[in-house]
Amino acid sequence: ALKAGIVGLPNVGKSTLFNAITQAGAESANYPFCTIDPNVGVVEVPDERLDKLTELVQPNKTVPTAFEFVDIAGLVRGASKGEGLGNKFLAHIREVDAIVHVVRCFVDENVTHVDGKVNPISDIQTINLELILADLESVEKRIERSRKNIKGGDKKYAQEVEVLERVKEALYEDKPARSIELSDDERLIVRDLHLLTLKPVLYAANVGEDEVATAEENPYVKQVREFAAAENAEVVPISAKVEAEIAELEGEDKEMFLEELGLQESGLNRLIKAAYKLLGLYTYFTAGVQEVRAWTIRKGTKAPGAAGVIHSDFERGFIRAEVVAYADLLAAGSMNGAKERGQLRLEGKEYLVQDGDVMHFRFNV
Ligand code: GDP
Repeated sequence: ALKAGIVGLPNVGKSTLFNAITQAGAESANYPFCTIDPNVGVVEVPDERLDKLTELVQPNKTVPTAFEFVDIAGLVRGASKGEGLGNKFLAHIREVDAIVHVVRCFVDENVTHVDGKVNPISDIQTINLELILADLESVEKRIERSRKNIKGGDKKYAQEVEVLERVKEALYEDKPARSIELSDDERLIVRDLHLLTLKPVLYAANVGEDEVATAEENPYVKQVREFAAAENAEVVPISAKVEAEIAELEGEDKEMFLEELGLQESGLNRLIKAAYKLLGLYTYFTAGVQEVRAWTIRKGTKAPGAAGVIHSDFERGFIRAEVVAYADLLAAGSMNGAKERGQLRLEGKEYLVQDGDVMHFRFNV
């Protein structure tokens, strides 16, 4: 499963947010393939389309698609030099697909700030510097190795050195690797190094509990937005403390509490949606009377690969898929209605699954 790692300086609200995530956590019986680890929180991805499909089909059961957050606490200044078990944490970051960087935007004299005062940009730069230093080490090692290989006469290594020198230069200028323009070929070369600063980032701006409705007016949030815009990153304002309270409520109580706070939906839901989008993920649906369910694929997945998310047998024995776009199905009112309108398509092995496709797979066992 795809994972987003939660990082940030100490005392910014990571544990509070992570507790809200596990508290709100998914029904684990539905996700037997998810990691069982105290540092991993499985959440359901909110999707209004799934609710609409449920109304339409009236199945026995509805299962949202899930997503994992990993708590990567302990990243501090000096991590790249191996201080404070730093390298171990960097290794954990290497394994995630995206980074949720929690930044402190709340003021509270009772909560110590590691650097003495609230300054989100300086906090971001402290963490980013550690990631950049770790990447520099990887890049320099690789350049050295590739240089030796050039002497062996292989042209491939010359190109590798050329690209990596550019990455190195950017890192020296304190720029993350994701800020560099790379061709597809170059991207392949760089991807091999599993650079930390190449991963997509989302900043979770943690505001005080009395600021949730007016988070955008918080001057620190404004600073984070400006900073993020320059490096093409997303920002989600959130109050970790409030989310922890929301996560304990259900149904009407939850709705009422959100209304009191002046919120349309919980910050956690916004965070989940933003992380999902950040990873470039698509959702397709299966809709039968037994179960209506959402499934996650990466953009660019073909029909057999999408079937494989359900079961590897579906991929191996794939024959074809019956597909109807969600909007068409909703407009037609039923599968039969969509069929009559000619909107139920038969698609083969090369079909690129689209976000919102409702699919039924035919396969050989
Ligand atoms: P971590 O070290 O990043 O995991 O931070 P914690 O989640 O442990 O939070 C550090 C302290 O800040 C705790 O005492 C939290 O209760 C407090 N805290 C977290 N979010 C907020 C907030 O929005 N407002 C206030 N006033 N305190 C918060």
